[in-house]
Amino acid sequence: MEKTDIKSLNLEELKTYVTQLGEKPFRAKQLYEWMHVHLARDYEEMTNIPGSLKEKLKESAQLTTVIPKEVQISKEDGTRKYLFELGDENFVESVLMRYQYGLSVCISSQVGCKMGCSFCASTLDGWLRNLTPSEMLDQIYAIQKDVGERVSHVVVMGTGEPLDNYENLLKFIRLLTDENGLHISQRNVTVSTCGIVPRIRDLAKEKLQITLALSLHASSQQKREKLMPVAKTYDIREVLLACEDYYKLTGRRMSYEYSLIAGENDSGEDAKKLGELLSKKSAHVNLIPVNPIKERSYRSTAKEAVLAFKNKLEKYGITVTIRRELGRDIDGACGQLRRRIEKG
Ligand code: SAH
Repeated sequence: MEKTDIKSLNLEELKTYVTQLGEKPFRAKQLYEWMHVHLARDYEEMTNIPGSLKEKLKESAQLTTVIPKEVQISKEDGTRKYLFELGDENFVESVLMRYQYGLSVCISSQVGCKMGCSFCASTLDGWLRNLTPSEMLDQIYAIQKDVGERVSHVVVMGTGEPLDNYENLLKFIRLLTDENGLHISQRNVTVSTCGIVPRIRDLAKEKLQITLALSLHASSQQKREKLMPVAKTYDIREVLLACEDYYKLTGRRMSYEYSLIAGENDSGEDAKKLGELLSKKSAHVNLIPVNPIKERSYRSTAKEAVLAFKNKLEKYGITVTIRRELGRDIDGACGQLRRRIEKG
């Protein structure tokens, strides 16, 4: 019999589960607090849970934990990159970044990725499987335990396409932001997508207060298709319309990510077109100098050209930020650490 993944259950589901084990419902609240507030990594830590219940849990339940196998710490800015081992011996990466406003953790949502973006290391070996809600949560829990400080922000921008793992993503967000759990504010959660239109529309209907970030990376359909195969399925106009509707339904301003690649999408003309595309929208653009991966010949845009691109965009009344380049001295780009370990 397959064991129940109790860290992926909400409080109501956990109540049903413990009742089925012949226990009183209040045990569910205790268990939930151990898992999601005290971040217990073992039943032995759960001091107010009777031994008889622990025995039943060991038999029928699974307490999902991700195991840190390697931690790289940046000497420049304290960024920490974690390589976690999952129960089936797969690996995922997560990153802890320090900002003035608090600690932000970037998590993975899948093992590998099937989206095939040409500049991204996470997709080079394809997709293996989706992460469960508990595996997504535990990346944050393990990091908070490790550093002994509260994580205030979460971005789903690691390996994988979160909207390609939609049901688990929603469960994860609800558990992460639940007032009975770690209770991270929905406003401090960002989900980044390459642009799966039907799922953006579904997400808008959930009326969450999270930020949605669209990986745009190009200002024309033709250029976007070249960088991102998903653009062949969902046209740039279609995806931008879905994002506008996301804003209308949720009131949350959209974020657009734009990785600058020298000679590909960083010209004055590119900036102009992008400005025109986004000028009437409530948009924030995050420029990311591309992080070169050795499997591709892409180079990042020089600093002055990044600033020129930003200035040009700002003329269209768009708020633009340049992503701070954290952790440059450790295996920087998404998916690089996992690839290095798995290739030996
Ligand atoms: N699949 C989701 C989330 C994961 S990628 C998405 O596509 O948004 C997170 C962000 O990092 C995306 O904007 C992605 O395009 C970008 N990215 C991936 N590899 C990169 C690289 N080598 N340099 C700069 N940005 C990169």
